[in-house]
Amino acid sequence: MTFALSMNKIIYIAGSQNSGTTLLNIILGGHSNLVGLGEIFQLLKQKKHGLYLSERLEENCSCGVKVKDCAFWGEVSKRLDARHGEHINQRYNIVRDVFLEQFGPDRIMVDSSKSLSYLKNLADVPGIDFVPVHITRDVRAYCISRIDRAFRDNKKRKMRKATIHLRKWYRGNLEMSQYLETGNRPYFRLGYEELSLFPDKLVPALSAWLGLSYEPGMLNLAPEGCHIVHGNRMRDQPEKNRTIRYDNRWFYRSEWLAPFILSSKTRKLNNKLVYQNEINRLWEQ
Ligand SMILES: [Zn+2]
Repeated sequence: MTFALSMNKIIYIAGSQNSGTTLLNIILGGHSNLVGLGEIFQLLKQKKHGLYLSERLEENCSCGVKVKDCAFWGEVSKRLDARHGEHINQRYNIVRDVFLEQFGPDRIMVDSSKSLSYLKNLADVPGIDFVPVHITRDVRAYCISRIDRAFRDNKKRKMRKATIHLRKWYRGNLEMSQYLETGNRPYFRLGYEELSLFPDKLVPALSAWLGLSYEPGMLNLAPEGCHIVHGNRMRDQPEKNRTIRYDNRWFYRSEWLAPFILSSKTRKLNNKLVYQNEINRLWEQ
């Protein structure tokens, strides 16, 4: 089914941590009709001393200037300061207002807030219509990535084992896929593996589904055309390293092996969520 984007739509990228959500945001943000804004809801979260966004004003936006000087997030921050204490959904509407003023009604926001709870939030914001794109990374690659992250961040020993991450992957992705399957909203599902191994097939397929013409420049990865503040480290990568490259650490590691063999339901969900386009050869039809 092809789903044409109309005005006033938002593309919502859903998925687990370390699953390519920022990569997908940068790719989509490279389309002339779309603007990548990273993880919007995370920036609107209330922290002890104000919003998360206000704590990051001195950091860089992917557009190349500090957040406080960014034409987009700087303005959002000023308006949010003036309207203290509102519900997060009202704050989201302010982001939406600034977006419409700056980019006009023909451009579409790409939000990679990822989680199911924020997706449900979005469904509650009046006057906002959105289309979910669910990206899932192969559970084996996900486990290795989370284990390495736990070592890097000096997390507890149990976080350095695959089982806990495999379970978290299963719960999170099952919940997300069930929510999308039982709703009446069209959605697109893809694997991080499909995206990074066959970007020239998958990105045109996703563009067509969104009702957009494919633009080859989308694969050039140009975060400076986006306004991504909260997202993973790839938004800061120097220009020379910018290519879509598959992270294949799990090929030569084995921590994932035992829990993966023991859980047939995880293997089944992994095939369904990560390799569906490839198995169905969407791009050959
Ligand atoms: Zn910016």
